[in-house]
Parts: sequence; structure tokens; C-alpha cells
Amino acid sequence: MTWAEAVRKAGARLKAAGIADHEADALILFMHLTGENRTFLLTHGEEEMPGEQYAKYEELTDRRVNHIPTQLLTGTQDFMGFEFEVEEGVLIPRLDTEFLVEEALREIPDGAKVLDICCGSGCIIISIAKLSNNIEAFASDISEQALELTRRNAEKLGADIRLIRSDLFDSIDDKFDFILSNPPYIRRGELPQLMEEVRDHDPQLALDGGEDGLDFYRRIAREAADRLNGGGMLIMEIGFDQGGAVRDIFEAAGYKNVEIFKDYSGNERVVKCLKSWTT
Ligand code: GLN
Repeated sequence: MTWAEAVRKAGARLKAAGIADHEADALILFMHLTGENRTFLLTHGEEEMPGEQYAKYEELTDRRVNHIPTQLLTGTQDFMGFEFEVEEGVLIPRLDTEFLVEEALREIPDGAKVLDICCGSGCIIISIAKLSNNIEAFASDISEQALELTRRNAEKLGADIRLIRSDLFDSIDDKFDFILSNPPYIRRGELPQLMEEVRDHDPQLALDGGEDGLDFYRRIAREAADRLNGGGMLIMEIGFDQGGAVRDIFEAAGYKNVEIFKDYSGNERVVKCLKSWTT
């Protein structure tokens, strides 16, 4: 079995198992296992793969066939050009969320005080801390495991983030210029229909937004105004069909300039709004 044959065979097995990105995944698992990059396959592809390594590659492929996310097999996910550590029990960073980071970076001036609530792996606040100047960065989550992962990612990537264990704003008494969040927003009834990778390996805690998916927006709308400085801004990720409902929630709660932004796929993805000057 040559290296190239092994990768082709793994790709075919993943395809047969209904894995959408079968070719990419076969390659990613190969690179993870061997530490080689893809040009290795062009230069050494026709050479024999050592049996021991092939056995390990088959084992990894088996796990992917069983719909374990590739990121949990490699232990990493790239996000905004940084390599984040991931683990079972904390939401794997989604590339869709890079759009939230880009929108936030447009707004956040040097020196701003920024809080990310429901920080998960820390991908949002750490990317922003790395890509902006001298912000004061805070991250909170209800999950101890998420905070610990954020701490490790911040340390590895060299970002200075203060961590707060809190159920949304319950244990937060400071005020911020910006509050960012990618809260859970999936409708509870839709959880069983999610892809196996998400349903069985991402924590329900990070996905379940209640009956209509909007529970966290309602709580954030109620609680965030007191935690924002005057003129402070909220920037949140939303589901592709939630723009209208989320706008209504924040307008009814007295926030100003509620704006919905579409991502590069044309899906509503981000909401921004300002704390009302009168509250
Ligand atoms: N966009 C995520 C998904 O694909 C949902 C994350 C969330 O609820 N914030 O499942």
C-alpha cells in the first residue's frame, strides 16, 4: 500500500460513509498522523507506507467513519488564522463565526473593554485580542471546562484574557464598551435532526436555545444594558432565520440602531445594537 493509495482508500471509505468533505478529511487525518504536508503526497506518494503507520491511519479513518468530527481527531481547529485546541465537551469553533469576529473588529477601537459571554473555546475573544490593539479582554462561560480550554488557548496563542465563570451576567458586575456573544440558538426540537457530528459530539449546553431558539437573546436583551457603558455595543451571532425575531427582541428592550448583517453565504449571521442613551 503506497501513501497515495492509502489516502485515496481512506477518502473512498469516508465517502461511502456519507462524510461530506471526504477528500479533505482523508488528507487532514493523513497530515495529522504523519506530520507531513500535502506536497509529501506528490513527492513520495508512490512509496510504500509503513504497515504500522497504515494501521494507525485506518484506525483514525474508522473513527471518522463513525462520525467523530475531524477536529476532535486532530485536537485542533483553525480560526481566523490561529490554531485553537478543541476537545469533546466544548463547542468546536465554526468558520461561520469568523464573520462575527470580522464585524466586531470593524467596530472595536484601540483600548476598548470587551467581554465575550458564552466564550466556549475562546476563539472569538482570543482572535479579537490578537487582531486589535490594547483591548481589555474578558471572557465568561457557565462551563468550567470551556473556561479552562479558553485559558489554555489564550496562553498558547499569547493573548491576555481575564476569565469569569458566570451564567450569562449573573456573576458579572463590571461594565464594558462591547459585549460579544455566540450564544446557543438552535431550536430545541431541531437538536435531534442535527448532523451526527454536531448532535453527538458538541455539547447540548452550547446549542440549545430553548423552544424557539431565542431564550438567550431574551436574557441578554434584559441583562446586557446594565453591563454596557453609555453608547456601548452588543454584537452577537444569530441563526440564519432569526434576524427578524432578534431585531424585535432588542428593539422592544429599548436598544437602538439594531442592525442585522448577512455573511458571505447571504445568510443573516450577526446582529449589532447600541445601548439606548436614555436607560
Ligand atoms: N452554528 C452552530 C451550529 O452549526 C450553532 C451554534 C450556536 O448555537 N451558537 O450548530
